[in-house]
Amino acid sequence: MPHLIGASAFESAKIMATLNETLWHSYYSQAAIADALLDIQGKLLGVPAYQLLGGKCRDSVPACAVLPMKPTIEQTVDNAERLLDVGFRTFSIKVGTDPRADVALVRALRERLQDKALLRIDANASMSFDDALTLLKKIEPCDLESAEQLTASWDVEGMGELARRTSIPLVADECVSDDHSILAVIRHRAAAAVQTKIAKNGGVWACRKLWTIGSGAGLKICPGNHPSTSIATIAVAHLATAWPGPILDGPFTVGIADVLAEDVVQEPIRTGHLVRVGEAPGLGVELDDDRIRHLRAH
Ligand SMILES: [Mg+2]
Repeated sequence: MPHLIGASAFESAKIMATLNETLWHSYYSQAAIADALLDIQGKLLGVPAYQLLGGKCRDSVPACAVLPMKPTIEQTVDNAERLLDVGFRTFSIKVGTDPRADVALVRALRERLQDKALLRIDANASMSFDDALTLLKKIEPCDLESAEQLTASWDVEGMGELARRTSIPLVADECVSDDHSILAVIRHRAAAAVQTKIAKNGGVWACRKLWTIGSGAGLKICPGNHPSTSIATIAVAHLATAWPGPILDGPFTVGIADVLAEDVVQEPIRTGHLVRVGEAPGLGVELDDDRIRHLRAH
């Protein structure tokens, strides 16, 4: 990439601004470069990435369980109970395809897990305003922690209206890509929390900017990532380790089994209900060159 040739890895602000001007809104690809620069900086200085992001504010980062859907509600609830036993306290439930099944699952989870678990639903922006409002009204008695991005990412005004018509706190995810879009969420009072993701938002520093803006407006902060390789997962763990404010239990997903073919680091990190970063320099993971050669498209 011509813009990077000859640049210092420590000039990350300038590099990232140039890349965004060159390919506007290309946050998914910018994230890989932003976090690679952070990794290089840490390795050159011999310090873990969290030290460059403000230093250690917590020893471990709490993660939620994104609840896998089993063939029956009972099996899904059994699995949630098993995850509760190993330490998870927050469950994210994907909803939006079958409203009747969604209501039944949320009720069954609350009944079985009682007050031992926080329940969050997430529709990945797939529901209409009316369907979302109907669902929220039906599950309001189930004491949900939050409802994440039920409606379309472009309808922030509608999300503000939804927030005013339900007692369940809303989380903004797909509708927040950058500082402009989080300001729209704040203006419309469309959410009580923001879910950032390393790739969606353009890397660690971009997420940190959104956390700063969001927390300044009273939004709760939910760290997380898409199903990713170990690199994105550990990058957000470094950021959360160095964040001084409170955080929600976010999805820390190494999505190898279901979504990606394989990981690209020598020692894939394992996620559980607590994610910990190590003391190795940079992000603390090393690329597996053989695997990358094998996966390269050309
Ligand atoms: Mg989401």
